[in-house]
Amino acid sequence: MESGKGFLKKQRKFWIPRLIKNGYEKLLQLDYDLLVSDWADKERILTSDTSAESGRWKTSRTPYLREIMNCLSPSHPCRKVVFMKGAQIGGTEAGLNWLGFIIHCAPGPTLVVNPSIETSKRNSKMRLAPMVENTPALAERITSPRAKDSGNTIFQKDFPGGSLIMTGANAPSGLRSVPIRYLFLDEIDEYPKDAGTEGDPVDLAIQRTATFANRKIFMISTPTIKDLSRIEQAFLEGDQRYYEVPCPYCDHYQVLRWANIMFDSKNCTEAVHKCEKCGELWHDWQKEQILSRGRWVARRPENTDVVSFHLSSLYSPHGWLSWTDIAKEFLLAKDEPTRLQVWTNTKLAESWEDMAGDAIDPTNLVARAEYFGDELPAGVCILTCGVDVQDNRLEIEIVGWGRGEESWSIDYQIIYGDPSTPELWAEMDRVLARRYKHAINLPDLHITATCIDSGGHYADQVVSYCHPRRIYGVFAIKGDGGFGKPIWPTSASKNAKTKKPVYMIGVNDAKDVLMRRLHGDTSAGQWHFPRGRDIEWFEQLTNEIVRKKFSKGRLVREWQPRKAGVRTEALDCRVYAYAALRALVRNYKLNLDEIAAKNAALSPNVAHRQPAQNQNAPAAQQVRRVRRVRSRGIEF
Ligand SMILES: [Zn+2]
Repeated sequence: MESGKGFLKKQRKFWIPRLIKNGYEKLLQLDYDLLVSDWADKERILTSDTSAESGRWKTSRTPYLREIMNCLSPSHPCRKVVFMKGAQIGGTEAGLNWLGFIIHCAPGPTLVVNPSIETSKRNSKMRLAPMVENTPALAERITSPRAKDSGNTIFQKDFPGGSLIMTGANAPSGLRSVPIRYLFLDEIDEYPKDAGTEGDPVDLAIQRTATFANRKIFMISTPTIKDLSRIEQAFLEGDQRYYEVPCPYCDHYQVLRWANIMFDSKNCTEAVHKCEKCGELWHDWQKEQILSRGRWVARRPENTDVVSFHLSSLYSPHGWLSWTDIAKEFLLAKDEPTRLQVWTNTKLAESWEDMAGDAIDPTNLVARAEYFGDELPAGVCILTCGVDVQDNRLEIEIVGWGRGEESWSIDYQIIYGDPSTPELWAEMDRVLARRYKHAINLPDLHITATCIDSGGHYADQVVSYCHPRRIYGVFAIKGDGGFGKPIWPTSASKNAKTKKPVYMIGVNDAKDVLMRRLHGDTSAGQWHFPRGRDIEWFEQLTNEIVRKKFSKGRLVREWQPRKAGVRTEALDCRVYAYAALRALVRNYKLNLDEIAAKNAALSPNVAHRQPAQNQNAPAAQQVRRVRRVRSRGIEF
């Protein structure tokens, strides 16, 4: 690596003569020893329309950004700076300060790449333009866009000695052509895998910096999915710096970790951080003191080519995003995989490890089978039914649900016959008519809701069967393979031919929820299987895994059969039975916990299962450590 002095010499040799040649010598107020953070403190003005705090920029407010910005300064020898970050810590502002510094103090050809042309346009208008307008040192270097031939458009800002071009990672033309010295790659985990047919957009953009020995590349993003996250990969290639802060009580330096955030999961009024050494609790208002004394520590100092930083939202300054906000959001997200993933990515700045892709050994599930007896297990509050329609048979699972969506597979039946004939559906009526005796002193249960798959060859027959029985909770459904689709829709769709209602159910999210529970990732929603169930049933339950792929430039996850041709009817039936439960929750405000409490009051002598977390914890234990639900990519 070249020394700072030699580097400066080259800078002056290369740039200054060019600027003078181009008639810009009057504007050369170049100070190559100036740091981006010092520039920002001196020049940058924030306004209330674009930032939470208006007035002069103060690096002391987000002291962790100082070193990041200083690595972007010309006097720092590194070429590539990587920032893997959480929300609301001011990461974007660090990039903007760098751009302001370039325009004012170290001009050169600059390219800013956003995930798409649209985001580029938005960022140009909402972030860059206000910074230029409100910071006098920049406003005098970039002509107003209203002036004629100003060289100031949404996608290009000319300034003495350089030009700033903004483009989208989805636009290969913007990533080719002229060489660039400064490259700002913003939110790179949102980039499409390919920029048209030209290859990886990050590689394309980086190639353009090759001719500049004094180039700087800044990559910034919140991470997404493990193994697919560009920012995580770049972070791991670097020297992996984490921000360590001192305990106000024992002075022990430590990284802020989610595992040390304590809060009451039933009534979260304040989340605090517990010192990993002395156990003292730190409050959000102490952040200013804690952050100002922090320091970056590299975990892999031997990786000298790239400087890489990791910072979660737990570092968000007091008054921005509190530990309490983050904890409350966690409590809302923890049982929904898609929301939990977003929370993990944006708040912890960690990639999401898709445990759903891990195989579950069906023989382990067989070993967990229990003896149910002839009657319904005591914890069952309600019964639902899921029906998979095949060309020669119906496969039917009847599921009992209890507190916290704990489930019991009460029965699994296969009825052979032709779905186009009334005989088979008469059999279905007999299944639905059955009453189930409870093991405890409670009225018999019948099946409250049923979902029948209308996605196959017999859609019209299924819809015709379900429609007159809808008052008994029998619904025609169809699986919707998109991600983030609600398990039960807000309204029904219509069958194309009969115009009767069909409910589109979010099968991927349903499988996410169910398979996490089958994995044992959550304390709630445990599965129970009866002894004597065929091994093939267990195999079918576990025959699908999550696959990740890029589709139309976006990352998608899909549950797919492990191998072509394997059977998955048992899993489908369970998904439909679960969708039926969700229908009751959504449309009839079913509350399993309330029913379980009522049942317990009616049969006080029977030991009802309690949820894994004891609700009657003594007051001293109210602030409780909440277990991290998943392991993720970054090791501390
Ligand atoms: Zn301490």
